[in-house]
Amino acid sequence: MLCIYCQENSFDPGKGSEEHAILSSLGGRKASRNICCQECNKKLGDEIDKPFADEFAFFSTMLDITTGRNKDAPTHKEAVEHDGLAFDMKPGGVFKLSKASVALKDQPDGSSEISITAGSQAQALALIEQVLKKYGKSIDDFQSLEAKSVKSYLPKMHKKISLGGSKQFRAVAKMLLTYLATLVSPERLRNGTFNDVVAYINGNNDTFSGVNFGSRVLLPANPQISDINHRAFIIASSEKRLAVGVLELFGYIKYTVELTSAWDGPDISKVYLIDPVDCVNQDSELELHLPSTFANYDCYEHDVNLIVAGIESVIHAFQERQTNQQINLMTAAVIERHMVGKGDVVTKEMITNVASDLALEFVKFLHRIESEDTIDLKKLISKN
Ligand SMILES: [Zn+2]
Repeated sequence: MLCIYCQENSFDPGKGSEEHAILSSLGGRKASRNICCQECNKKLGDEIDKPFADEFAFFSTMLDITTGRNKDAPTHKEAVEHDGLAFDMKPGGVFKLSKASVALKDQPDGSSEISITAGSQAQALALIEQVLKKYGKSIDDFQSLEAKSVKSYLPKMHKKISLGGSKQFRAVAKMLLTYLATLVSPERLRNGTFNDVVAYINGNNDTFSGVNFGSRVLLPANPQISDINHRAFIIASSEKRLAVGVLELFGYIKYTVELTSAWDGPDISKVYLIDPVDCVNQDSELELHLPSTFANYDCYEHDVNLIVAGIESVIHAFQERQTNQQINLMTAAVIERHMVGKGDVVTKEMITNVASDLALEFVKFLHRIESEDTIDLKKLISKN
């Protein structure tokens, strides 16, 4: 088989490079090995797929999406600043202090003040030990000691994502052509009807205007797997001679690609869905009435407000998940504090304690009230 992109390298059927219908870094699993050579996969991957995935990497990290190669979502360094400190976002939307710090300040009376900021008690203790060692001091040499454990609620996340641009559109066209490749024969993919879109994906067809925001065809609301699933559609009409792909990311962000206006194959109406978090995915046949699906195709005008509303909806869905996650963590911690290891019988006192602590935690969380606990540093150090 000849590689459709370079038209130079060839490979045995089913032995080309693995191309994903939805990028694996976005959670996609469906792939074809009948499209292109390794070289083009690498070249186009670096040029268009990676920048596309990077644009959405923040969401991938927040949702803890692992790629097809079981690689963890990336950690976003210094994703948010709070109270003069930077925090990294780790997979699953967990925040950690980016950098521990030690500051030494000479006081007017000749003494010195050392202050240590760390992301965990263990990290703080390790730093204290380092400092003591460096100056040949013991904890008893200090005039005063103060240690605090601070619990902060970070501000709600806001993420700017930039949509559009030819690289992003080329990446979308490549994904939808890949999905089509899983539905048609390798010969049909190479019969010349896709030359325009192939040249566009290669970066050699600036006049191609077949990629748009939003959906130019009328799509059914179902099937859905979750509120933030990705869906890829291929709708082809022998009567209209059109083969069109629609990519919907995270449930709301849509792109349409006209793959060819010289479609000479059968009618197709298929959707591939995947939940990016648990990777449940399915291929479905759509029950479509093709003429009404394409009814407004030629007079489609994209509405910027729709795109903005789509992005807002995604962010809202993420924030809701983040809030639920936080509530689960708080609940688990309170139950652990009052019930775990306290015998088999749940007493009235336990329930009262859990209820009152939970109420307090919720209020602090909702109003983002920070709390501080004093730690007995001497006791802590002697224990270690
Ligand atoms: Zn190639």
